[in-house]
Formats: sequence, C-alpha cells, structure tokens
Amino acid sequence: MPKFFKSLNPYTQEIVGEYMEASAVQLEVKLEWAEIAQREWATRSFAERASCFEHLADYLREHKAELALLMTEEMGKILPESLGEIEKCATQCTYYAQHAATLLQDEAIPTDATHYSGVSYEPIGIILGIMPWNFPFWQVFRYGVPALMAGNVTLLKHAPNVFGCALAIETAFRAAGFPEGVFQALIADVDAVQRLVADDRVGMVTLTGSERAGASVAALAGSHLKKSVLELGGSDALIVLPDADLDKAAAAAVQSRMMNAGQVCIAAKRFLVHQDVKVAFTEKVLHLIQGLKQGDPLDSATKLGPLALLDLAEALEHQLQKALTQGATLLCGGVREGCNFAPTLLDNVSPDSVAFREETFGPLATITSFSSEQEAIHLANLSRYGLSTAIWTQDLDKAKTLARQLEVGSVFVNAVVRSDSRLPIGGVKKSGYGRELAEAGIREFCTVKTHYVN
Ligand code: NAP
Repeated sequence: MPKFFKSLNPYTQEIVGEYMEASAVQLEVKLEWAEIAQREWATRSFAERASCFEHLADYLREHKAELALLMTEEMGKILPESLGEIEKCATQCTYYAQHAATLLQDEAIPTDATHYSGVSYEPIGIILGIMPWNFPFWQVFRYGVPALMAGNVTLLKHAPNVFGCALAIETAFRAAGFPEGVFQALIADVDAVQRLVADDRVGMVTLTGSERAGASVAALAGSHLKKSVLELGGSDALIVLPDADLDKAAAAAVQSRMMNAGQVCIAAKRFLVHQDVKVAFTEKVLHLIQGLKQGDPLDSATKLGPLALLDLAEALEHQLQKALTQGATLLCGGVREGCNFAPTLLDNVSPDSVAFREETFGPLATITSFSSEQEAIHLANLSRYGLSTAIWTQDLDKAKTLARQLEVGSVFVNAVVRSDSRLPIGGVKKSGYGRELAEAGIREFCTVKTHYVN
C-alpha cells in the first residue's frame, strides 16, 4: 500500500494537500533522469545556465502571490514574510546568474610546469538536498541555485508538511526552461532518502535540519565516502554591552527572535545583557514583545503566526515548563493554544537551564546577565551550537576583538544576523560544517581539479 503524506494548515488544521509516496520504481526513474540530465547540463555554458536562472527569477516574481500563499498555508508563516522569502529566492537566482562564472573561473597557479598549472572547478554530479520546512523556498534556493549553476543537478527531499512547496518549486524550474531532470522533487520518506544517500549515482548530500538528522546523514554519507554539507541547529547569543544603543538592540533582538514565529536557525535565542543595562533593556524588549499581535497568518495585522507543527509547539511548551522549574522567571507569554504559542520572555535564565542549553525553536526569548566582556564571551561560547552571534556596542574596535573570540560561523555587529547571497553562512560545533552562499557556497558543490602541463 502506498503511503500518503498530509500537509495541514497549522492555523486552521485544514488539509492543504495530500501527496502519494513515490514508489521505488518511480525513484529509480528520477535517478536515471537526473543522471542523463546532469551529463547534458554540465556541458552548458555559464551564460546558458544563467539565462535559465534569470527566467526563474522572473517566474518567481510573477507568481509571488500564489507561491507565498501556499507557503503560508502549509507552514503558517505570516504572509509578508512569505512574500519576502520569494523575493529573496529571486535575488539569489540573479546573484548566481551574474557571478557564478567569475566565482568558478579557472585559476592559474605558477609552479615549475613549463606551460600551465592551476585548478578548475568541476561539478560533482547529482546533489541530494534534504531540507526542512521553516523556510520552504529559501532553504531550497540557498543550496539549489549555486549547485545547479556549478553544473550539478539536484534531487530534493523536502519535509513532508511542505511537499506542496517542493512541487511548486519543481514546476517553477520547469516553467523557467530548465531541462527535464535538472531539478526534481521527491515525495519520499526518510528510509527512501537514506537509500539515495547510499546510491553511487548520488555524488553529494546537503542537509539543513536538526542535529539528529545531520548526524545520521553524515554517518551514512561517510560510510559511502561521500561528501556532505550540514546546516544544523543553533542557539545564537545576542550580546548587549553597556554602551549599546538599547532601543536599536531591543528592536533587533525581538525581530531576530520572533521572525517566522521563532523558527529560525540563526535567531538570537539567548540575550546576554550587561548587568548595568539589564533592567532598561528588558523593559524595552518586554514592551515590544507584548505589542506583537498573534493570530491568522493571512491577516495583515498579524505579526506572529502559529508554529508549523503541533508536536513542535508541544516540545517548546515542555522546554518552557522545565526552564521555569529550573528557576527562570516568566515575564510574558508562556501559554499555548494548539500551534499558537504566545511570544514569551524568560528572565534569570541560568547556563544550566534547558532554555540555555538546548535549541528552542519558537517564540521564546531568554535573558541572562553578565558583568564583564569575558563573561559574555564565555556564556556565548557555552553552547554545543555555533551558528552566529550578534554584538551590540558603540565601540567597533572592541566588537572586532570580541568577534574573534566567539566560536561561531558568523558575527554581526549592531545588526540582525541574516543570510545574504553575497556572504557565506554556516556553523561550527554541532551546528554543522560546510558553507552556503557566496563563493564558498558554490565551491562546496564542486570538485577542485588540478591541471599541470609540461
Ligand atoms: P529535521 O527534523 O532534522 O528535518 C529536516 C529534514 O531532514 C526533513 O526533510 C526530514 O525529513 C529530514 N530527516 C530527518 N531525519 C533524517 C534522517 N535520519 N535521514 C535523512 N533525512 C532525515 O529538522 P526540522 O525540525 O524540520 O527543522 C528544524 C531544524 O533545522 C532546527 O534545528 C533548525 O535550527 C535547523 N535549521 C538549520 C538551518 C541552518 O542554516 N543551519 C536553517 C534552517 C533550519 P522528515 O521530516 O521526513 O523526517
């Protein structure tokens, strides 16, 4: 009996779509198509590939309204955020269409070779992308655009609650003129995808998701001597030094933590605040959080939609209750109705607290105070994760020095941490390895070939 995947609107609990699992034979056909398509796609020039991506950017902009609506219905993101996400994907297409040829141009490396020595960047082949639901379009475009511009093709295994988005992306690639087989979405479960990781025709796997999934896929890929890129969870700190512009820091902290109902890997989840400004900062944050209207993600007044899945909301509630028993003080929120989790602020969160140690994937912010810069660095680094950190201070020289001491992939000073096609993104420690975006991000999907001509 084939399995059916259901995608439920988290706000209404109505069924958005039902998708039948692909059979083993159908998956085999997709793999064969991918193999054939890759051979032809790799022979195309950068200009030809770029032209497909320019068309894709146009398609996304033309169909923005319907694509954004689908995203909101499937995972509950408020509509303006869905619209912004589609726009960001279009920008990503344009960025790599314009820059891939330069980022991957051959490099001459002088040696004792008589004629030439250097490197070229060659495609790896079929890239398997395993993606989460929190940015159903952006996560796919984040890896897919550079992977394909480099001459690879991809098979996408998306999270089942956003299979509608996965199929809409496949339709978009086809409509933009990409050859059949270059981008294919799979309606498949974890078992099927693990078989694909093991298949010799798949050259590399990239996974964005939880630490647990990352460890499992990395082990499997490793056992088949296959490269993997892992973009995993985070518990980012936001450090507020005593000289920070507190209004801006508080606004940024709330924006970072509450965006996408808190379901963001690079959200600031732990606010580390100098004791001298803690009261003032906390008041500002509390005021902003209490002003966030929660509700229907399609209502333009809504600033915070539901969490994407009921079990996630329940897990967050469990973490909250445990944090309270561990001594945290509830300043606001703390209630849940179905998938709707009220924006919550916890004070006096100690480094032993579950809300400090674990990733909290929802609208729950924590405040921990410190008395010296070295203590702030120590607290920030006291996490198994290492995606990014934001530092708020007027002293840019000091920020630069502190940035070097943080065990993370990115440090943003006086700004909300965000991904940008022009800058690499990725983590250290249990947040994964490898980089996405910019030059580093496209080179992940390439083999470096050495040339020596005497
Ligand atoms: P998840 O449960 O790990 O799922 C992510 C994807 O991996 C899904 O497609 C899932 O499929 C698949 N998967 C799960 N276990 C697997 C396994 N053993 N083998 C192969 N595939 C497997 O993560 P999530 O809860 O959807 O996403 C939230 C997590 O993603 C958070 O930790 C967040 O921080 C992280 N994230 C990181 C980044 C980043 O850039 N670092 C960006 C966004 C999100 P099924 O759903 O079918 O199990």
